[in-house]
Amino acid sequence: MTNKCAVITGITGQDGAYLAQLLLDKGYKVVGVVRRSSHFGVATHRLDWLKIADRVELVDGDLLDLGGLSRIIREHQPDEVYNLAAQSFVKTSWAQPSLTAQATGVGVVNMLEAVRAEAPDARFYQASSSEMYGLIQEAEQSEATPFYPRSPYAVAKLMGHWMTVNYRESFGMFACSGILFNHESPLRGLEFVTRKVTDAAARIHLGLADELAMGNIDAKRDWGHARDYVRAMWMMLQHDTPDDYVVATGRTVTVRDMVNVAFSHVGLDPEKYLRIDPQFFRPAEVDVLLGNPDKARRVLGWEATTTMEDMIREMVDADIARHNTVR
Ligand code: NDP
Ligand code: GDP
Repeated sequence: MTNKCAVITGITGQDGAYLAQLLLDKGYKVVGVVRRSSHFGVATHRLDWLKIADRVELVDGDLLDLGGLSRIIREHQPDEVYNLAAQSFVKTSWAQPSLTAQATGVGVVNMLEAVRAEAPDARFYQASSSEMYGLIQEAEQSEATPFYPRSPYAVAKLMGHWMTVNYRESFGMFACSGILFNHESPLRGLEFVTRKVTDAAARIHLGLADELAMGNIDAKRDWGHARDYVRAMWMMLQHDTPDDYVVATGRTVTVRDMVNVAFSHVGLDPEKYLRIDPQFFRPAEVDVLLGNPDKARRVLGWEATTTMEDMIREMVDADIARHNTVR
């Protein structure tokens, strides 16, 4: 057990919730930064689902507000800071490019500045993304693969990534950038493709829906489980030296194959329900992502433990249980 303190931005999101659970289990004091909402209580639904909402300390803060972030870091003097907050949905980034650049890009600079000024010895984790590889320059993407971002989201993430590297090299900060490939769970947002599919499979199975409208089902992703991936974040900050790591499973599958896993789990034929709808296509697509996690395995001893199939089945079961409780 430890008596360390960690500050997590994005604690109300999927990864923030799982990371908070992991750190609480290790004895950390967890301080979560939450942006103000008029909907009291809604923000903590993922923490509630994990039954940890009353074990974390939530403080008001926004990535766009350097003054507030600085006060939080000054007051809590964390040992570790995990910057998970972002406008994180790729499709929305074309509708709100400026907001995405601010939150997902400049927000990282604000966090780095707050830590540099108020707790320069704190260890810093930045949530970077495989979307930075975009139009892939190598069949398997590693830490050495050149980036080619294909969305305002990916461009903003690239800024955050290089700022993290730059603060490490310029100021000697213990700053790590985790280049995480897609990771999912029952706590994934409903707008992302896996959860959209598992929720639809659950609703069709229960007679609550009769179709699923989707975009490009030929896209391929390297999907892992969020529970495994937050463990990699923590492991990066426990290592002797700060560095950047790809976190992935090393296997890529099509959206179509993932849909088949979800629907066959409840005995349904997806062909009967699937409808292709142009509104779900993107102005520019990332056709395929496949990560090479060798460095994380070799240096950190990290490995993914959950297959895409097991994860999707867990998500379908969780969605069925959710719909059953509200009926
Ligand atoms: P979510 O979308 O589930 O969570 C995003 C979090 O950011 C929420 O807590 C949200 O708060 C918060 N947030 C958004 N804008 C602000 C802001 N201006 N100030 C403070 N908080 C803000 O994302 P995930 O948990 O899935 O991902 C965590 C991080 O990892 C993100 O940065 C994402 O881009 C990145 N990432 C995720 C991958 C994945 O596959 N999941 C892959 C690679 C990178 P609120 O609840 O108020 O909306
Ligand atoms: P991303 O990789 O961060 O963009 O994660 P998403 O889960 O949003 O999308 C993964 C892939 O699924 C992308 O290539 C999308 O174009 C594709 N996709 C196909 N249909 C859909 C859909 O209906 N919704 C979403 N979100 N993605 C879809």
